[in-house]
Amino acid sequence: MIGCYRVTALKNLLLCFLLLLTACSSTENQPTNLSANSADFQSVITLPIRLHLLRTQAEPQLNAEMSEQELTELFEQVNLIWRSANIKFYLESVHARPVIFEQDYLHAINHPEFYQTSELAKQMRQACEIPKQNNQVINVCVVKRMTVNMGGVYFSGRDPKVVWPLAMHSGSKPLNPATLAHEIGHFLGLRHNQEDDIYLMKGRGNNIRRDGQYDKIKLLPSEIYVARKMAERFFVILNQT
Ligand SMILES: [Zn+2]
Repeated sequence: MIGCYRVTALKNLLLCFLLLLTACSSTENQPTNLSANSADFQSVITLPIRLHLLRTQAEPQLNAEMSEQELTELFEQVNLIWRSANIKFYLESVHARPVIFEQDYLHAINHPEFYQTSELAKQMRQACEIPKQNNQVINVCVVKRMTVNMGGVYFSGRDPKVVWPLAMHSGSKPLNPATLAHEIGHFLGLRHNQEDDIYLMKGRGNNIRRDGQYDKIKLLPSEIYVARKMAERFFVILNQT
């Protein structure tokens, strides 16, 4: 089951969660009847991703670590999923960062039963603090485990960021690039849709079911339009022929 949040800096409240799918399933303001083969989509947009691998002092087994091969494969698979949008992501840099409020994070990891779901989401937001954040990159905090069994979480606001786990809270389903690709979709302005499970932005649970079938995952033409507009607004565009 993929977990998915969109949290604003103003309200700091849960806006988009798989269990509340109807609250964020609207595709309003997204144009329809657009073809993915439109000439507008032919130029490649390349977007930088900055990875922050979160570490703990007290429990090194919860440190997020990725090998070069895992990083290479992760980006290959995310780019495969996003290929229909002609958006490519590259690894801008990797940083090791301490988990902020480590004791709170560890307690939530080990005793999630003491917390409301919204509190667990808040734990993930504060654990991933990026100093002097550069908003010209997509910031992704990689954690070994989430506080709850979520496949990823997106926080919007002044300092938008994605938190993506190497494994579910239970330790199952490691390294699912579909969940990262889904959260990046939120970063690029996409909401959940109500299409079939094969679509990337379908909310509840579908990404895990598609594990290993990344070449089959689809984006709606309207989603491609919105994501490319967002990318053009914030990032450098490289036209390639
Ligand atoms: Zn989502």
